[in-house]
Amino acid sequence: MHTSVAREKKLELESHIDSSIPEIIVTDQMILSQVLHNLLSNAVKFTPEGKVSLEVRSRGRKGKKHRMEFSVNDTGIGIPANKIDIIFDVFSQADSSTVRQYGGSGLGLAITKRYLEMLGSRIRVESKAGKGSRFFFTLAAETGEEAVKDTDTMPAGEATPSRMKEIRGLLVEDDPYNRLILKQLLSMWDMSFDEAENGLQAVEKAEKKQFQLILLDIHMPVMDGFDAARRIRKLPGYRDTAIIALTADISEKIKKEVRSGLFSEVHIKPFEPEKLNRRITEIARRANKE
Ligand code: ADP
Repeated sequence: MHTSVAREKKLELESHIDSSIPEIIVTDQMILSQVLHNLLSNAVKFTPEGKVSLEVRSRGRKGKKHRMEFSVNDTGIGIPANKIDIIFDVFSQADSSTVRQYGGSGLGLAITKRYLEMLGSRIRVESKAGKGSRFFFTLAAETGEEAVKDTDTMPAGEATPSRMKEIRGLLVEDDPYNRLILKQLLSMWDMSFDEAENGLQAVEKAEKKQFQLILLDIHMPVMDGFDAARRIRKLPGYRDTAIIALTADISEKIKKEVRSGLFSEVHIKPFEPEKLNRRITEIARRANKE
């Protein structure tokens, strides 16, 4: 995923995995991929020249359980010491000039931290301004027998990934970075959704096309998720459509709207990918039966 940008910037991109690390481990693949993706894209983004590397080192084992240290290292711009504690906060960027030069939303590391907490791990960083950075975490995981495919965990005759692909979904999210993460997750699940950047766009798209599932951010400019859902529910064919609200804070107002049926359910951001995947799978299964 990162080779083309690295090549464009003439960066070396390397990976090293200790030979004692098993080829298959049991963990949440989606979360681990997302974490490594976030760290690697930052490393490539914030490194004007030199090298980016991914290392997985063995930190011992007990029976089938391996302790591994993952690290993403770069020779980039580094992070000033007084900023190192805040980079994991939502919307923080080490330097306001970073935004102008490198773009970004300041959410990636906050999400990464949260993801790793879900796996019982903690992200750490060592960095020197002008020299480079090393983001690392340890993970304990058992050796796996063989890769578990989605189909193996689904009851026979239920939705298969190819049928899931067919769900007509709409992703409504104003924040480009959040949209990107959701899009990445969806594409990892072999799905592709139409997109809208605010509530009004969502209503306009729903007028033109019958969606079976809408993932709807709540706080958005132009028209928020509440108004958008109300207007969409009034459109023909949308009375029972699954509308999943995505929000960072679960207020009483949102709970009330789930009870009233405006939203089918709520997922708290940063949501748990596996839970969301399970729900989308169920909705796709139901929609495809109809
Ligand atoms: P974004 O990259 O969208 O700004 P992140 O949460 O991923 O948001 O990162 C927050 C900030 O941390 C970045 O804006 C940057 O200042 C700093 N940062 C993250 N990774 C690196 C890195 N590898 N090298 C230097 N600075 C970094």
